[in-house]
Amino acid sequence: MRKSIDLKVNPTFVNAYKNGYPLISPESLENWSKVEDEGTILTLLDDKNKFIAKGYFGKQNKGYGWILSRKKEVTIDKDFFVKKIKEAITYRQDFYHSEVTTAFRVLNGEGDGLGGLTIDYFDGYYLLTWYSIGIYTFKEDILKALQATVSYKGIYQKKRFDAKGQYLDDTDDFICGQKAPEPLIVKENDANFAVYLDDGAMVGIFLDQKEVRKTIRDKYAKGNTVLNTFSYTGAFSVFAALGGANDTTSVDLANRSRKKTQEQFLVNNIDLEKQKIIVEDVFNYFKYAVRKKLSFDMVVLDPPSFARSKKHTFSASKDYVKLLKEAIQITNRNGIIVASTNASNFDMKRFKTFIEKAFKELNEKYSIEETFSLPKDFRVSDTFKEGNYLKVVFIRKY
Ligand code: SAH
Repeated sequence: MRKSIDLKVNPTFVNAYKNGYPLISPESLENWSKVEDEGTILTLLDDKNKFIAKGYFGKQNKGYGWILSRKKEVTIDKDFFVKKIKEAITYRQDFYHSEVTTAFRVLNGEGDGLGGLTIDYFDGYYLLTWYSIGIYTFKEDILKALQATVSYKGIYQKKRFDAKGQYLDDTDDFICGQKAPEPLIVKENDANFAVYLDDGAMVGIFLDQKEVRKTIRDKYAKGNTVLNTFSYTGAFSVFAALGGANDTTSVDLANRSRKKTQEQFLVNNIDLEKQKIIVEDVFNYFKYAVRKKLSFDMVVLDPPSFARSKKHTFSASKDYVKLLKEAIQITNRNGIIVASTNASNFDMKRFKTFIEKAFKELNEKYSIEETFSLPKDFRVSDTFKEGNYLKVVFIRKY
């Protein structure tokens, strides 16, 4: 039997939970000493012992668990999850019916009322990502719920259990159904992507950037020279090339990025001749570019929110100004910098102050052409706006 424990909410948090705030934090509840096992159902009570909400205990980078329901009589079982999954699918009907896109997010954690879990769709295959041991204890019911709700070719999973959300275990990524081809070719706005559902922590594409990629291809790429930094599998370069970029340069530190990027070009029938792929620390590359007097019509910046390389530590909240200054120096006049970050410890307003500062310090002028946050399938809860971590700004340098 799953344990269930009543806990008093710290009075300063009562209103937030009554209004639907979904995250359970260590400060928000009293008597944590009663709670031992991940996956324990927590019933939140106010100071008069009145029911507020039900959630579960699961430690992850963001907190100690998530609210699941504000109904007192609810049981957290297969039927509960069926309801959540059905709602999530209904919300994404346009994606299921799309002929040009076959990869998207089906369920986005707390944005769909199920914090700690995401479900992605890749052309008939489903990928579950578990962000805590707590949510993973519901695996059997969640899996049954998914199987009862969708028709699928196969189901995969990723476990990201530790405090930093790091990927833990790749011995059992495949759960059931048919195994996916390797690579599995999916489509996004008519472009192809090679994804690997059973090859470590990442599958080869970040689905949250779909609108940004489309915008680069449709509005900004034509005839231009493009530098894509922190390029991973080169997704931005592929869209730039498809949009008629004159040439692309993709820079990433990871060795695997060369082959992976070539593959993404090839599955889109793009001639590799004008696509440079450089395996190097981005900060070294900037120095090299300045020395060689290289400059670009478009520079894409998409760093991880935190990274440590041999020589540099990069933290988006501390170092983004520096990164922008490097980029500004090698961007042509009238050119575009696409500045992106998925850091959740600052918001768009603060991100724009980084941009302001970088241009000011270099005495350069700019305008903001457009901005993006998460796309529709990455649903965000109205009561948890910080769940919208993605910030992308298209900046024109004058
Ligand atoms: N822009 C990519 C996603 C970037 S993921 C896309 O659209 O798919 C972050 C990438 O940054 C990783 O591939 C990692 O290898 C790379 N990286 C981290 N630190 C780096 C550094 N100092 N120089 C170059 N690449 C770096």
